Amino acid sequence: MKIMPMPQDLPEPVLTPNAKTVLSKRYLRKGDDGQPLEDFKTMFWRVAASVAGEEDKYQESSYNSLDLGRSFYQLLVEGKFLPNSPTLMNAGTDLGQLAACFVLPVGDSMDEIFDSIKNAALIHKSGGGTGFSFSRLRPKDSRVGSTGGIASGPLSFLKIFNTATEQVKQGGTRRGANMGILRVDHPDIMDFIRAKERDGELNNFNLSVALTEKFMQSVESGSDYSLTAPQNNQETERLNAREVFSLLVHKAWESGDPGIIFLDRINKDNPTPGLGEMESTNPCGEQPLLPYEACNLGSINLDRFYSPTAEGGIDWEGLREAVHLSVRFLDNVIDLSRYPLERITEMVHKTRKIGLGVMGFADLLFQLRVAYDSHRGLQLGEKIMEFVQRESRSASRILAQERGPFPEYEHSIYARQNLGPYRNATTTTIAPTGTLSIIAGCSSGIEPIFALSFTRQVLDGERLLEVNPHLEEALKNTRSYSDKLMEDVAKKGSIKQMEHLDQDLRDVFVTAMDVPAQYHLKMQAAFQKYTDNAVSKTVNLPFDATQEDVWQIYWMAYEMGCKGVTVYRDGCRAEQVLSTQDGE
Ligand code: UDP
Repeated sequence: MKIMPMPQDLPEPVLTPNAKTVLSKRYLRKGDDGQPLEDFKTMFWRVAASVAGEEDKYQESSYNSLDLGRSFYQLLVEGKFLPNSPTLMNAGTDLGQLAACFVLPVGDSMDEIFDSIKNAALIHKSGGGTGFSFSRLRPKDSRVGSTGGIASGPLSFLKIFNTATEQVKQGGTRRGANMGILRVDHPDIMDFIRAKERDGELNNFNLSVALTEKFMQSVESGSDYSLTAPQNNQETERLNAREVFSLLVHKAWESGDPGIIFLDRINKDNPTPGLGEMESTNPCGEQPLLPYEACNLGSINLDRFYSPTAEGGIDWEGLREAVHLSVRFLDNVIDLSRYPLERITEMVHKTRKIGLGVMGFADLLFQLRVAYDSHRGLQLGEKIMEFVQRESRSASRILAQERGPFPEYEHSIYARQNLGPYRNATTTTIAPTGTLSIIAGCSSGIEPIFALSFTRQVLDGERLLEVNPHLEEALKNTRSYSDKLMEDVAKKGSIKQMEHLDQDLRDVFVTAMDVPAQYHLKMQAAFQKYTDNAVSKTVNLPFDATQEDVWQIYWMAYEMGCKGVTVYRDGCRAEQVLSTQDGE
């Protein structure tokens, strides 16, 4: 692929040592001998220039591609915005698959099941993650017409998907991630809820149960609900909704699996119901999609928009500019990306969904000296996301004027609501930013930081040590600062219990475990209010949390309008992704 030549006067990227490690290992293009073919600067130019190159297709564009390439480059190397990993890895390369999220249908026939496995393998190879609903598969022990035999059911096929994933390393750089969904009214639901009971079982899958509005009402009233066989819509059994909900709560308390999604709520926000129903999300839950749809994500690093002299300490003008550029970037990515299947290309081009979100929110709060678990913290989360949502839609409207609305617009909910035409059926998603946050050197997504100082275990077991820079700076300005204090912080990961430090600092510099579960959930709801798609968020609970606590969180998530929820009780699984030194 031809890329505009790199101007000589571009600034060098500013990267932390950890960012350099991650980029060198997985993102720089390598030759057959494993040696890098590019450095950090040429990597960022490859991405910026190839995405900006798409601009030339549009005569009405107010940008020329070279200037736009420079602006994108600047945005990336200042760590203000990063697109999802596949875009960083593959833009401007022969592979050219740039989206992180896909949903594939699984039909109730051998052909359709194995087509889906093959398609998932192609997507994993290109660096994307896949979500599937298994709800259309007939339950185990039902009859198979063609052979007169007995069906083995969704769970047995899930295992085949899992094994196939194991064998396909994603683009040689990361392992395939999957989401498996089953509706709560599927006859095999009890087995599904228990599917990950044994450690290591289905380890390439996150599982979520799709809860319907009807089911939630039955939980509320304590009544029974019916399980229905999908192949003939016949009721097979009735279960008590509260007992099923209790089991879900128990399993989530025990191991964090499965999670839950609120399916009817997700479909209420489906912008193009004429194209079908949403039945699954991507692997980490933040992106519900129609079958064969894909979405590319990108995240703005809020930490970079702290400005002590601006209104409320935030550079709103700079943020507005970054949102507008990022939306243009993500819209260009849709066309630049090469998808592994023609059907996916067709779907993606019909709805043109993008998912702009934020990361570095906890770091911004540190700089503003606002506690995450406070009313002000919640208000700020809501205000920022309302701003990002409004500006991203305004950017999408400008693009619609230049390039036309997304082709399904006339049949979308926006046309019915008389909301001006948009270029994209959705514009906002809060991604986990697992690796992006390391590259940008900020806290991930909208999560509080895991620990003020910790070793981060990256996918293949490598460990990276990190100390929060804002805390270090704040402590340096106190009388208590000493090497011994920093050692203590590294050991404990939290300063909440350090009584010799100022109360203000102890209130502001909180970690995920210091934040009460209700506040985790309230923050998720605050961001969801202004997010088109969904919000990736973990509600952390202490080891001694009870099942009643989990029940309450699930119920709050339902009542506060979340699209799903994931809880994690500290220490309930042997292998954790992040650990403080104490926990090693
Ligand atoms: N994803 C994946 N494999 C991974 C990590 C992520 O397929 O190992 C996909 C998945 O769809 C996930 C999405 O990328 O929901 C976004 O994850 P994240 O923001 O953590 O990715 P990053 O862009 O930071 O690598």
